[in-house]
Amino acid sequence: MGSTYRRRVRHDASMTDPRRPEQTADAWAMGLALDEARRAVMTGDVPVGAVVLGPTWDVVGRGRNVREARADPTGHAEILALRAASERLGRWRLDDCTLVVTLEPCLMCAGATVLARIPRLVLGAWDPKAGACGSQWDVVRDRRLNHRVEVVGGVRAEECGLLLQRFFEAQRD
Ligand SMILES: [Zn+2]
Repeated sequence: MGSTYRRRVRHDASMTDPRRPEQTADAWAMGLALDEARRAVMTGDVPVGAVVLGPTWDVVGRGRNVREARADPTGHAEILALRAASERLGRWRLDDCTLVVTLEPCLMCAGATVLARIPRLVLGAWDPKAGACGSQWDVVRDRRLNHRVEVVGGVRAEECGLLLQRFFEAQRD
């Protein structure tokens, strides 16, 4: 209990540290992705959410997992957020945007991130079983591809992971 509390305090301190404005922005954006993830539960979808931040850190795309809601095997949060951002900006090349997602992207979404030329990926919880951004595979930093992505992992990881854990626990009951 005590160690958890201390960890949380240290975490909050780093998030509000004025010397690290990027970290604060990442944590803020992850909050928006978490909001999207929570909405997925309403349709029985695994709670994963994503947002795309534009060049001036404004939200240009949002998405949540809609695999069940739309009976779509490709209905992942990242795909929806990337499509929304491209539509909004009127271009497929998102080379000045940041993708923020609550769970480490899968093979498909890591591939889509590369195809969209996203330079920076911020992720919440790691996915040791199916993650393709450092866990099982590392598609976004594969030297054989013509584009590589900077990965910032573990942003608000505890919240992102707990949301998933609670969802699967409720499904078992
Ligand atoms: Zn995916």
